Amino acid sequence: MGIASDNQEFISDLQGYLNDRYQAKLQEDGHAGRLTRAAAGRFLPGFGDQIKAAPLALGADQAGVIILPGRTNNAAIDTRSAGQIETILPQVQPLAVELILKARAAGIEIKIISGTRTYAEQNALYARATNGKDDDQDGRIDEADERVTKARGGYSNHNFGIAFDIGIFEGERYLPESKLYAQVVRIAKSLGLECGADWKSFPDEPHFQLRPPWARAISEAAMLAEFRARVAAGKSLF
Ligand SMILES: [Zn+2]
Repeated sequence: MGIASDNQEFISDLQGYLNDRYQAKLQEDGHAGRLTRAAAGRFLPGFGDQIKAAPLALGADQAGVIILPGRTNNAAIDTRSAGQIETILPQVQPLAVELILKARAAGIEIKIISGTRTYAEQNALYARATNGKDDDQDGRIDEADERVTKARGGYSNHNFGIAFDIGIFEGERYLPESKLYAQVVRIAKSLGLECGADWKSFPDEPHFQLRPPWARAISEAAMLAEFRARVAAGKSLF
């Protein structure tokens, strides 16, 4: 398969995505014409220009979600984010992509720095001591050395594919604290994401999640219990 046909596949994926999510009513012909570019620009800020400027460099993932691996400029998704986005549920992936694109349109560069963790990974994170020592021996004591969760395996939304954490970046520099997080929270709310910033007991500003429809009106604890039961029964999570 040549580059051109890859691109055509991507464009028709994109058209399908815009149709499914935004009722864009595009013909899914794989051709990035005026209507497709206009719809992409309208619903995915920054994307329309990218299609026009670099049509042959784009790629798509298998789930119809727009992920542009290996590209860090303009409307592309960086590889770190793309890798994390792949770990979350297909229903949540487009929202993570859109959060990146909409934040970028507002002048804020974010990356998805954490997605789904297995129970074992969650337990390892939970077991990490809060001791002020350079546990990972990278020469600095930072957030990577401290316990970052109060949840054991099976008790975090990150274990079920509905949650992701972002980091704000200035160039390559990660900004653990910034007033811009509040702005990203506002954008996330406009996309219908639930924000850790709103949690009463332990607000978690960089955390976002999407509840499955069956969990809209129940408590967090009840949702987690149902998730554990569904995992144990091999049932669908969303
Ligand atoms: Zn989180």
